[in-house]
Amino acid sequence: MAVKYFNGIPVVALRGRVVFPDTTITFDAGRLISLAAVKSAAENNMQLLVCAQPEPEKDEITAEDICRVGTVVKIKQITRLPSDSVRILAEGLCRVRVRSFTFDGCFFAEADELRSTHGDLTLEEAYFRTAKDIMRDITSTENRFTKDAIARLDRCSDPDEYVNLAAGALPLRDEVKQRMLECDNVTERLRMLEKCLNDELEIMRLGRKISAAVRQSIDKNQRDYYLREQLKAIHAELGDDEDERIALTDRIKAKKMPAEIEEKALKEVAKMDKMSSSSPEYTVIRNYLDWLLALPWTEQTEDTADLKDAVKILNEDHYGLEKIKERITEYLAVLKLTGSLNAPILCFVGPPGVGKTSIAASVARALGRKFVRMSLGGVKDEAEIRGHRRTYIGSMPGRIIYGIKNAGTINPVFLLDEIDKLSSDMRGDPASALLEVLDPAQNNTFRDRYLEVPYDLSKVLFITTANSVETIPSPLLDRMELIEIGGYTEEEKLQIAKRYLVPKRLNANGLKEGDVAFTDGALRALIEGYTREAGVRSLERNIDAVCRKTAVKVAEGEKARRKITAEGLHALLGPARYRSDEAEHRDEVGAATGLAWTAVGGTTLTIEVSAMHGKGEIQLTGKLGDVMKESARAAISYIRSNSGEYGIADEAFENTDIHIHVPEGATPKDGPSAGITMATAILSAFTGKPVRGDVAMTGEITLLGNVLPIGGLKEKALAAYRTGVKNVIIPKDNVKDLEEIPKDVRSKINFIPVSAADAVFRNAIIGL
Ligand code: ADP
Repeated sequence: MAVKYFNGIPVVALRGRVVFPDTTITFDAGRLISLAAVKSAAENNMQLLVCAQPEPEKDEITAEDICRVGTVVKIKQITRLPSDSVRILAEGLCRVRVRSFTFDGCFFAEADELRSTHGDLTLEEAYFRTAKDIMRDITSTENRFTKDAIARLDRCSDPDEYVNLAAGALPLRDEVKQRMLECDNVTERLRMLEKCLNDELEIMRLGRKISAAVRQSIDKNQRDYYLREQLKAIHAELGDDEDERIALTDRIKAKKMPAEIEEKALKEVAKMDKMSSSSPEYTVIRNYLDWLLALPWTEQTEDTADLKDAVKILNEDHYGLEKIKERITEYLAVLKLTGSLNAPILCFVGPPGVGKTSIAASVARALGRKFVRMSLGGVKDEAEIRGHRRTYIGSMPGRIIYGIKNAGTINPVFLLDEIDKLSSDMRGDPASALLEVLDPAQNNTFRDRYLEVPYDLSKVLFITTANSVETIPSPLLDRMELIEIGGYTEEEKLQIAKRYLVPKRLNANGLKEGDVAFTDGALRALIEGYTREAGVRSLERNIDAVCRKTAVKVAEGEKARRKITAEGLHALLGPARYRSDEAEHRDEVGAATGLAWTAVGGTTLTIEVSAMHGKGEIQLTGKLGDVMKESARAAISYIRSNSGEYGIADEAFENTDIHIHVPEGATPKDGPSAGITMATAILSAFTGKPVRGDVAMTGEITLLGNVLPIGGLKEKALAAYRTGVKNVIIPKDNVKDLEEIPKDVRSKINFIPVSAADAVFRNAIIGL
């Protein structure tokens, strides 16, 4: 087919635009030379040569400004635009190379068709396929290609046409397009296209990456914002109070905790931010923070400056107890001088109701410190001391921290009551936890499991109490200084009642001093007939009962001052519970009065023995521990081996059954101190000679008849005194303990020290 030749074809210079054959294009013509060219074309065969104008900004152009290779198009449609320009829809026909331009109102060209030449067809095909593949990649991800365009590209089987279509559709730079338009070798054109396509693909990839990165950053911000807004909405919906957390933060900062604790607390508040206030975790943290806020961290009281004032308060609160007050005064003096509590912990030991708790409270008052009390009775679980881990709702700190919270200061007097009643089982050993609390080397970083953070207990003044030292775990005992508070005599009780208990009870019942008056006789009757105790607890209860009953009468308007007499007690409290024991002190065969020490103070106990015809068996009944049983056997053996001395026939032991009974009513501790009492009762039963009713005794007996010393003499002596026993047989080795016994008791009781069982029998059994 012959190469086409165009002569005088009108030319439109397109600013910055290259048109390819085989494509449909639209362009606007506004310049006069362009309008003239269009007009000329419209008047002929609608054919127009479109050439690029490489410098688009140029309005006035010469032939030099027009590219010499362009595309002949056939105009399909001309649309007039409002601004005197026209919009042309045209179809590219073929490429031409211009030989020359002429000008006559517009440019006209003399041009030859530019046909492509073919080289290596295999290479051409290879390029063609690659180009098609890449193009497919591009069109499948880029959405700027119309479906038609994609379909045409797919269908196209002519490489040259394909280059035209693709180059026309791609957003290539003009000079690139122009070079492709001008190139006349198909392989070369395909190679150029392929490079462009690869570039395009890379650009697309980069573009995607950039937009993804941008999107990502926007997404994250947006996402966070969105979630936060949602959370706010949820909190609002649930009625959550953001203010609560702000208020908590403020309170934490105002509390002036140690830095470490404050940091911990604020972290917990931050956790709450992410939770719903109705979730269990929220409540757990809330409670925890309440604890941190409620605990004293720095708050403390000033100790009383003048020791004299402190001593005055101690004396004001309690009657007697001179030794204890003296010791406490020394203790406080050291405390004041050294400013350190490195002293051993004080432990008040004594029966109930002797004022152990109240003197500890008095120490606090004397020092001007807060007072807290914690009873250790029956504490089995370590967690009670050290708390439970904060893993479930309702877990709490241990009782030490609880007590400190109640005190509200870091330096209270902390009373650990009944330290001898601690027990331990598989849930851990509370004694060792307590050891940590009491040890000055460790207690400045006491760790409560619930609290998690260490708490400083080193400024706390710990005082402990116990009824008996025997059951105090020994590591604890080692750390404590024992101060014994024994029972009171009747006289002391009378004074305590008059000076302390009566005024206290009147006050507690809203009565004035003048409203009720107890006579000494009434108080004595209360002490002897209504109570039997080492301390004054039930005496106080009875006084209280009398006051209460009187208060009712006063409230009912009875004005007259009421005098409480011994005789009047019956009407108020009913008959006396205890008879005076004096009447019971009869001389009896086979019954001896022993003195026993119990946790509630001293008591008398009558041991009864009956000897009857039998086979020489021994029967033991009543409240007897193993040690007492052994004492009984030792006593029998001794008497048996010395039967001649007391006029007992040898065979008497073989055909006599012995029954020893200790009455249930008394609940003595198990111990050997009833030894001589049992021996006396047995001997009396065998000999038929009575035991003196006005003698009581205490002492251990050995197989050889030696009398060994016993403990708790003071308590026992007081018990003897209370029951009106005149003579008390004691082991000789206990004579040194007599000093501890109040003078009025010593003056009323005749103590008979002995070292051998024989002396016991001679003093106690009548007519031996
Ligand atoms: P404990 O702790 O030894 O069992 P408490 O301290 O409970 O005894 O004392 C019981 C009551 O007796 C308290 O009201 C206490 O004030 C009073 N009391 C005990 N001893 C005396 C005393 N020596 N002077 C004044 N009151 C006392």
